[in-house]
Amino acid sequence: MKSLLLTLLLSISFSVSAVVSNTTYFVHLKAKDAKTRSEIAKYIHIDQVIDDSVYSVVNENDLKELQKNFKKQIVESHVYIQASPGTLGDEIEFPRGDEKFHTHAEVVTVLNDLAKKYPNLTERFSLGTSLEGQEIPAIKITAVSSNRPNLFTPGILFLGAHHAREHLSTEVPLLLAKYLVENYHSNSEIKKLLDSREVYIAPMVNPDGAMYDIKGKKYKSWRKNRAVNTRGSFGVDLNRNYSFGWGTGGSSRNERSDVYMGPKPFSEPETLAVKAFIDAKPNIRILLTFHTFSELILYPWGGKNDGVGGRDQKVFEKMAKTMAKWNGYKPEQASDLYIASGDTCDWAYGAKNIFCFTFELSPKSMWRGGFYPGAKVIDRTFNVNIKPALYLLKHAGNPYGVLSEL
Ligand SMILES: [Zn+2]
Repeated sequence: MKSLLLTLLLSISFSVSAVVSNTTYFVHLKAKDAKTRSEIAKYIHIDQVIDDSVYSVVNENDLKELQKNFKKQIVESHVYIQASPGTLGDEIEFPRGDEKFHTHAEVVTVLNDLAKKYPNLTERFSLGTSLEGQEIPAIKITAVSSNRPNLFTPGILFLGAHHAREHLSTEVPLLLAKYLVENYHSNSEIKKLLDSREVYIAPMVNPDGAMYDIKGKKYKSWRKNRAVNTRGSFGVDLNRNYSFGWGTGGSSRNERSDVYMGPKPFSEPETLAVKAFIDAKPNIRILLTFHTFSELILYPWGGKNDGVGGRDQKVFEKMAKTMAKWNGYKPEQASDLYIASGDTCDWAYGAKNIFCFTFELSPKSMWRGGFYPGAKVIDRTFNVNIKPALYLLKHAGNPYGVLSEL
């Protein structure tokens, strides 16, 4: 019955292919190993790997590609969200029950308020401006006097929401900003860190996509930014748009694909803003970019099967394993899952020598809420990630120091 319905839906939507559908589909495929998964990842983003299966929520174009290229491996597929695209003037607010999540305007307000309340610890700034002209809001947190040249104060950068529907990845860095300034005076560990570090936090790298995803108070399972592509589709996958190894696997040249790499590396104002910021801050030694979901700690390479090798490999492994003890996530090299090129961390490490981690936050699986686990998980997810964040802050001074720790 399900498959009949799906066929029906597909034939309807395909016959009016001029209209870009907003329907997303749940899909389950058999994929016996990393090689097979990497083949699939050329067409779709894999949300979850369990044993010899992969699961994902894909758009219509990508489902079509799967049916064309992996027909025999598809175990199940059905409509996940059938959303209206939203119209001009639709309210920008999270769906009922999820209002605790922060809209772009609310993120701006929270950061402004923190800057006002803690002027000696913070500096409000913008990472840049999105394609649709929205600010990419950010805050610098440090007790190091701004009169001193900051070149030699170790820096760390936290990023959230490269992907629109991963709203929890905005909440965690936003709560972290609040936590750091509110505990500076009462917590000696945090005081020590902020007295000797510069912390940069940009909780919403992709404001256009994130706000489109909730427009009209309905989730759309949107992933990309809102770039206007040449043939009527929208969006570039920002986490496939970085230059290092761009377009070498696990991303698509098809504009309609959810893993569309963009017309060229750094074609998007959002990724370009991240690049320009990091280029201007040579003191940044560690980067943590939050995504959802699956509960993983990932490190380079993502775009090739090799590890980074040498001492750096040991640093990545040691840090990932240590943090995993606190948040319970699974530490692994990103490409152990499947190849994905052009992501933040391959560029940050490959081009800038920054120790970069991707956290895939909660929940653990699709069946525990996937991209939309509800506001109840916000605090819990933040709490288990405080220690990992402070640990990275501590080691921003000398990441190699972890090798001599027990
Ligand atoms: Zn993501």
